[in-house]
Amino acid sequence: MKYFILFGPPGAGKGTQAAAMVEKYNLRHISTGALLREEIAKGSELGLKAKALIDDGQLVPDEVVEGMIENTFKTTKGVSGFLLDGFPRTIAQAEALDKMLSQNSEEVTSVVSIMIPDEMIRERIKHRASIEGRADDASDETITNRIATYHAKTEPLVGYYRQQGKYREIDGTGSIEEVRAGIFSLMESL
Ligand code: ADP
Repeated sequence: MKYFILFGPPGAGKGTQAAAMVEKYNLRHISTGALLREEIAKGSELGLKAKALIDDGQLVPDEVVEGMIENTFKTTKGVSGFLLDGFPRTIAQAEALDKMLSQNSEEVTSVVSIMIPDEMIRERIKHRASIEGRADDASDETITNRIATYHAKTEPLVGYYRQQGKYREIDGTGSIEEVRAGIFSLMESL
């Protein structure tokens, strides 16, 4: 099995590019953000707890998302691999993922990182807010917190995967088509 991680700051275009990647490479897309939004929509206890954190731009606890990932690994059949989007988001989550995979003699295949500067994060999220109506996209304060959370907790993963020789970065500032072409040519070279 292949285990790809789609990495990048909020608003980098991970969800958009994931859709094209899963189709081309027969992967199962796992977006922890989307799974959490499903829980919120269902009104589950987990969803209620997650909503308060998400709306404040904070991360939900590591154990919550780790459980979601492990569950999806176990219940998915008939794919060539997985495309993780929004996970791992902390070093602790990356370590938990390594542990989960090594129990089955598997490992992370590659990290595909889509990079955009902070100013563009804001523009992209504002634009998405007008289309998708996500609560966590609507407030400037939440966006500021998400950018800060990304730099403090998620960006250290760049070093973590670089050290393992698994980190590949592409420029996310171009058009959707340009970024997609960049990702596809990177995937062919892996
Ligand atoms: P974006 O990539 O635009 O930040 P996501 O849809 O990936 O949005 O995530 C939305 C929110 O869900 C995050 O801001 C965070 O609060 C929560 N979340 C998603 N994935 C994780 C994760 N792996 N660990 C902790 N919290 C997460």
